[in-house]
Amino acid sequence: MSRETQFSLYDGMKRMVTTTPSEPMTLLSRPRFDAWMVEHFVSLGGRFHDGAELVGIDTINNVATLRNQTVEYDYLIAADGANSTVERIIAKQFSTFKRKDKNPLCLEVNVKREDFDMPGVNIFFHIIPDSYAWSFAKGEEVCLGLVKLTHHEFDINAAMRKFMLDLGVKHLERYPLRGAMIPVGKYMEHPSFRNILFVGDAGGFVEPLTGEGIYHAMQSGVYAAESVIEGGTVGQAYERKAEYLKRLINQGAYYQQLLEKPSTSRYFFRNVGKHPHFVNHFYETQIEHACLDPFWKIILKYKLSKLTRHRK
Ligand SMILES: Cc1cc2nc3c(=O)[nH]c(=O)nc-3n(C[C@H](O)[C@H](O)[C@H](O)COP(=O)(O)OP(=O)(O)OC[C@H]3O[C@@H](n4cnc5c(N)ncnc54)[C@H](O)[C@@H]3O)c2cc1C
Repeated sequence: MSRETQFSLYDGMKRMVTTTPSEPMTLLSRPRFDAWMVEHFVSLGGRFHDGAELVGIDTINNVATLRNQTVEYDYLIAADGANSTVERIIAKQFSTFKRKDKNPLCLEVNVKREDFDMPGVNIFFHIIPDSYAWSFAKGEEVCLGLVKLTHHEFDINAAMRKFMLDLGVKHLERYPLRGAMIPVGKYMEHPSFRNILFVGDAGGFVEPLTGEGIYHAMQSGVYAAESVIEGGTVGQAYERKAEYLKRLINQGAYYQQLLEKPSTSRYFFRNVGKHPHFVNHFYETQIEHACLDPFWKIILKYKLSKLTRHRK
């Protein structure tokens, strides 16, 4: 785990602004975090079947088929990621089932600090169209990555190699590129189907501005569990609860679209460097703490906080 204090935005390789949020940003090693979650689940009495792959679902008799066993279920919570097998099986069986959008491809590489060192959380615009590349300091390593939105055509491997070269990463040959899907398109409008509840990436719950989905995966998992425990119309209850996540995601999509729009994007790049306090305010209220305030309210609160600062 590492705690970083600087948040910077770049236009290409040129730094536009750096801010220092009031709380350090915590970055975790994903394998360690996942292992901790499994341990916690088991300590609460959960049964974890490592490596058990789901290959079929019988929706009439409510039976899930794994490679070497079958499991009966009352409710099936599909938490099997962006390329969800459950989604694929159900889409094949039912033409009325609406899938989430196609997943964009993401590349990420963890570089040793001796080969490249950059503190903090850094966002690089204009490396790829309509999105950004990133560099996150994480303990012994720095995590570099970028995403290719589905409506763009370019060589993502070449873009990633160029990004790494431009940053000055040494020993590029040590770092084979690894890809993964990230569902930053449209989530499932109805993430429940019969008694199957889609959570996390399987349901497309990823915030499009930041590409973050861990919070949404965990929160949708909690909503699914609560809905099953409460009983009644489980699917409807789950969809009602998941509305909150959809609203957060819609808000992220709105900001993402502003970045894609030439007029607002021009305004952003011309002015962002002049307003580090606003960048900090936006980071703290919108990114670090999920908040559903409309943009005008964010600006109003920022102006009020500025006034209070001046009066002190
Ligand atoms: C490169 C990259 C960087 C990211 N960085 C961040 C970040 O910094 N912060 C953030 O919040 N989010 C980040 N995300 C998004 C985040 O990783 C996901 O939103 C989150 O992991 C979703 O969790 P999940 O449990 O829904 O799916 P996953 O984490 O994908 O877990 C799905 C699980 O289901 C298993 N599975 C799949 N198919 C089957 C099957 N047929 N049978 C049994 N098991 C199966 C898989 O093995 C996996 O263990 C990133 C994504 C990518 C691709």
